[in-house]
Amino acid sequence: MLFADADSAYNDADYVIFGAPFDGTSSFRSGSASAPQAIRNESYNFETYNPNLDVDLTELKIHDAGDIEAGEKISTTLSRVASATRNYVTRNKTPIMLGGEHSLTIAAARECTPEWIIILDAHLDLRDEYEGEKHSHACTTRRLYEEVTKNIIEIGIRSGTREEYTFVKRNKIHCYNADQIFKNGIKSVLNKIKEHIGDETIYLSLDIDAIDPCYAPGVGTPEPFGMTPRDTREIIWTLAPTCVGFDVVEIVPDLDINTASLGAKLTREFIAAKRKHQQT
Ligand code: MN
Ligand code: MN
Repeated sequence: MLFADADSAYNDADYVIFGAPFDGTSSFRSGSASAPQAIRNESYNFETYNPNLDVDLTELKIHDAGDIEAGEKISTTLSRVASATRNYVTRNKTPIMLGGEHSLTIAAARECTPEWIIILDAHLDLRDEYEGEKHSHACTTRRLYEEVTKNIIEIGIRSGTREEYTFVKRNKIHCYNADQIFKNGIKSVLNKIKEHIGDETIYLSLDIDAIDPCYAPGVGTPEPFGMTPRDTREIIWTLAPTCVGFDVVEIVPDLDINTASLGAKLTREFIAAKRKHQQT
C-alpha cells in the first residue's frame, strides 16, 4: 500500500516518500521497523484538503517509492538509505523518509547537504557510542554534528547524560528544551531559530518521542513532559518552506497505532506547508 495521495510517477514527482524499515540498534523497545507500512495505512484516514494551509494534496506531485531493503546490519541499511536519497536529491525531489529508527537520519541528511539540521527529539542523542555502536540511535545527533554540519538545532529536549549536556555547552549547540517551549511559547522559540538560520536550507528530522507520550505513546523510548502535537505542527509549518529533506522516525505501531496516525498527519502537514511556500 502506498502513502495516500502519493500517486505521481517518479519522474514527475516533487516529493518522494520512502520507507526504511530498520530498528536494529533500538535500545529499549524495538518495533519501529513496522512503522513505514503503519504510517501509510493511517494516511488514508485524512482528507486530501488541508484547510489551515489551503492546499489539496491531490494537486501536488508526490511519489511513494516503497521501502528500501533493510540490511541486518546498520552499515548496510545506511548505505541503502544514502543511495536512495542521493537518487531523489540529484533529480531535484524532496526526500521524505518514514523510519525506522533515528540512526538512519545521518544517511538521508548527508545526501541532502543542508546548511542546517534541525532535530525534534526528547533525547540529545549526543553519545559518542552506545553499547559499542557508533551508529546507534542514541548517537545520531553526535554523528550529524561530526560528519555533516556544526549547524545543529535541537528542539523538545528533556533527556541526556551529564556528558551530553556538557557537550551541548562546550560546542554551543542550539538546544531548546521542552520546558522552554511550554513556558515561552513555540512562537518565541521559532523566532529565535529564525534569527539563526535566516533563509538557509534545513534538513528536518522528527523523532516522534519529542512529542509527549500522552499524545504519542507508540515510541521505543517514551519520555514524559514533552511537546504538544500542535507546537510540533507549528514548527513544521514554519520550517518546511526551506527544508530540503524530512524524516519521521522512532514510531512503534505495535504499542500504539495512533502514534503512527500522528506521524502520517505531520508528514502531510510537511508536504502541504512546503508547497504553500512554493505557491506564494
Ligand atoms: Mn532520537
Ligand atoms: Mn528520542
